[in-house]
Amino acid sequence: MKILIIAEHNNGQLSEATRELFGLPLGQAERHAVVAGEGVEPLAAPLGQLGAAKVHLIDSPTLAGSTGESLAQALGQFIPQLAPDIVLAAHTPQGKDLAPRLAIALDAALATDCVQVSCADDHVTARRPVYAGKATAEVEFTDDSLKVITVRPRTAKPPGPDATRTAEVATIAVELPEQKTALKEIIASDNARPDVTEAAIVVTGGRSLGSSENFSIIEAFADSIGAAVGSSRAAVDAGYRPYRDQVGQTGKVVSPQVYIACGVSGAIQHLAGMRTSKHIVAINTDPDAPIFQLADYGIVGDLFDVVPALTDAAKNQNGND
Ligand SMILES: Cc1cc2nc3c(=O)[nH]c(=O)nc-3n(C[C@H](O)[C@H](O)[C@H](O)COP(=O)(O)OP(=O)(O)OC[C@H]3O[C@@H](n4cnc5c(N)ncnc54)[C@H](O)[C@@H]3O)c2cc1C
Repeated sequence: MKILIIAEHNNGQLSEATRELFGLPLGQAERHAVVAGEGVEPLAAPLGQLGAAKVHLIDSPTLAGSTGESLAQALGQFIPQLAPDIVLAAHTPQGKDLAPRLAIALDAALATDCVQVSCADDHVTARRPVYAGKATAEVEFTDDSLKVITVRPRTAKPPGPDATRTAEVATIAVELPEQKTALKEIIASDNARPDVTEAAIVVTGGRSLGSSENFSIIEAFADSIGAAVGSSRAAVDAGYRPYRDQVGQTGKVVSPQVYIACGVSGAIQHLAGMRTSKHIVAINTDPDAPIFQLADYGIVGDLFDVVPALTDAAKNQNGND
């Protein structure tokens, strides 16, 4: 079984979601990695330390700040040469853009947003949430054709890098036709906190915060524990938070270690974005709020009392460390 991991990178660093792909329980499969872009050679060593037996570099100025279009064309030329059984990508904006393009171009089977991928006796299965997370579909691949799979970030724990491991490195040449789209500019987010999709802890506020100013108590709590700030759609629609913070069916899907929902009712569309969180804490005045049905820990109380108290406790704890 040969697996190709598409390595995502930014500012010369591998993305955390890419590292996690090496932690999937895929047995003795031979792991390859491909990294495309300009000046990507320094990424070969860390990929080797994560467990790639061979790293394929597609190094081209055309791929600097590449769009899904150019990346798919480059990988579409390379993948048939390697002929892997599985292509793995993270279910990030890049992976979501790339995977369907590759599946079409390579006539491959496709399973996206998987929260489990396993491989036994060369038989691959994947699990993916469906119906806004109300059910889980088990995907079986019924023939030997190429499988393209995207994996939800935080599904697997990345392995610790092993400095004694090195990968064989190959340079791949591709010919890219004139592109129909071009990346003009990257506008950096003004968010100093981690993004909700990347953070290990997410503190989310709902409509009950009542104003954007009141979100400062959510921010203070998040900062005291190194968390990202999330928002329900109702709070976004009310103008309390920017859309980038929205968690849910029409926002972002998150899977942190800890998700703390403050004054969020737990509507199905919200749960769709956070139900795969490892530990869920809910703070709500209403003991019958639906969020408590999913929560591992619940605090029935007023968030304007509870959240500052938790912030103080975290600060005291930090001071004692
Ligand atoms: C097509 C569609 C897509 C949608 N997509 C999303 C999505 O992506 N994400 C999303 O979040 N929603 C989404 N929604 C909206 C969703 O249905 C809910 O309306 C929304 O999640 C409610 O947000 P909320 O929990 O902040 O507000 P409410 O439902 O108004 O809940 C507020 C909660 O706060 C509690 N509360 C009030 N005061 C306090 C206090 N002082 N302390 C503690 N608790 C308090 C209340 O008991 C209540 O449970 C979508 C809806 C549709 C139709």
